[in-house]
Amino acid sequence: RELPGDEQRDGGSRQVHHAFFSYVAPSVKISKPHMIAYSADVAENILGLDPAELERVDAPYIFVGAERLDGWTTYAQNYGGHQFGTWAGQLGDGRAVTLGEVLTPQGERWELQLKGAGRTPYSRSADGQAVLRSSLREFLCSEAMHGLGVPTTRALTLVGTGTGVHRDMFYDGHPNLEPGAVVCRMAPSFVRFGTFQLPAERGGKETKLVKFLADYMIEHHFPKLKTGLENRRGQVAEAEMSGIDGEEGVSGKYNEYAALFKEVAERTGRLVAYWQAVGFVHGVLNTDNMSILGLTLDYGPFAFLDAYSDQFTPNTSDPTGRYAFGIQPDVVLWNMVQLANAFFAGGLLTAAEARALMAVFPQTFGVEYSHRMAAKLGMATFDGDFTTALLALMKRDKVDFTNLFRALSGVTTEGPGEEGTEEGLLRSVEGVLPEGSVKGDWAQWMRIYIVKLKKQGTPDAERKAAIDRVNPRYVLRNYMLQNAIDAAEKGDFGEVRTLLRLVRTPYEDQPGMERYAALPPTWATKRGVCQLSCSS
Ligand code: AMP
Ligand code: MG
Ligand code: MG
Repeated sequence: RELPGDEQRDGGSRQVHHAFFSYVAPSVKISKPHMIAYSADVAENILGLDPAELERVDAPYIFVGAERLDGWTTYAQNYGGHQFGTWAGQLGDGRAVTLGEVLTPQGERWELQLKGAGRTPYSRSADGQAVLRSSLREFLCSEAMHGLGVPTTRALTLVGTGTGVHRDMFYDGHPNLEPGAVVCRMAPSFVRFGTFQLPAERGGKETKLVKFLADYMIEHHFPKLKTGLENRRGQVAEAEMSGIDGEEGVSGKYNEYAALFKEVAERTGRLVAYWQAVGFVHGVLNTDNMSILGLTLDYGPFAFLDAYSDQFTPNTSDPTGRYAFGIQPDVVLWNMVQLANAFFAGGLLTAAEARALMAVFPQTFGVEYSHRMAAKLGMATFDGDFTTALLALMKRDKVDFTNLFRALSGVTTEGPGEEGTEEGLLRSVEGVLPEGSVKGDWAQWMRIYIVKLKKQGTPDAERKAAIDRVNPRYVLRNYMLQNAIDAAEKGDFGEVRTLLRLVRTPYEDQPGMERYAALPPTWATKRGVCQLSCSS
């Protein structure tokens, strides 16, 4: 933490040295704070809190940071990061203030953080506030990702501040003064790759903070990795099996920091495989937005794919497509290299260990991605060429990612099967192929698919059920968010709450909710309308 002397010095923006956080109180401008939505699931199932508590009149004041509960110790974290490939120096929580940590009835530790809670020592020239549209997006998408089964930070509350926030950026249809809102988000830890990078990059006396942080993370979040007699042997064996020690490696000597890096790389590999399988584009995969726990973190200009394209990014501040959908696995590997550099600089890994550990992320990603894509096709084994062929057709014919995969559960191996007519072959997907799709190519792909399915021999009904468990019927498309934002800005929060309910069980057909499986309406495909920038 910052030394007391530093705390006294200056309430404003500053470089904070030798410290991972600074004590700071939330300072949101409020007039009539109001609860826009809350996650009863998070309240009940994580915090053990009766959701009715969040209906109390003081709840909006608490979760906007205006009323302090006993035991809160509020602070903002310090971290750095590479932004778009360039080292950006100190960043830190410029608008997020942690309220404290809660030990849950299950014995878990969860950090509660208010995003948009006012200026901190890390705010630089920005205002520390968040606008309703960006807080609403983070709130809903956290819960949507959880509903999909993707590791993510969670969201407890979304509270409107009742005051305006100035944004001088151009945003279609929005005035410069926008309603403010604070989201209370939760994670066991918000430590990022960039938290390790900052002391490593600063070097000198700060270098030792890299080890301090690694020790802290192992102690609190990865206790199984601790050097200990029972764990040690298993870990060494596991590390050797996957070739982590490398030729010149630690040769049987257990290095808990190598084990930590390996665990982070595995979690991150699993995470990115999930993203690719549900068609999620994060939008800003800077190293300060990479969670050490392998969670989806910092929802800004994200999107779920509509029409499939590996080149798609919703982020208008990313003209080269550095963070485009298909690039995510590569750019996250690049981020893993930066984390390895930080571990190396902190003396936690030898160069040989760091080199060997670089294999972990691609390895885990490859295995997990194969599993997930095979499952999406209802197939027991992954066929790379066959999957690539499907994605190529989808890209060329601009086919909706979510709806196409969902439709595959309707393919049948009974009847004429691969011998069928083109019309027969395409019956299950005809509703999702846009006009102008090359039907012959799709029929050909379908012929091969049916042959493969017949060979596999899983009964159709069984395969349908399995496919529907992994291919969502509903994803939180940007146009849906935009509708909820437009209504919320007019004071109508019904749509936010409807979407929150919808995304709880995205794999189930929900009666009366069919319209949420629809493609974006034309207004939303117009350039600009649903595009987003980093500062959203
Ligand atoms: P992000 O693009 O949201 O990952 O943010 C990158 C950095 O900018 C982080 O250090 C944020 O805390 C900071 N930041 C973003 N928006 C604001 C804001 N309105 N006020 C203060 N800091 C901000
Ligand atoms: Mg961020
Ligand atoms: Mg952001």
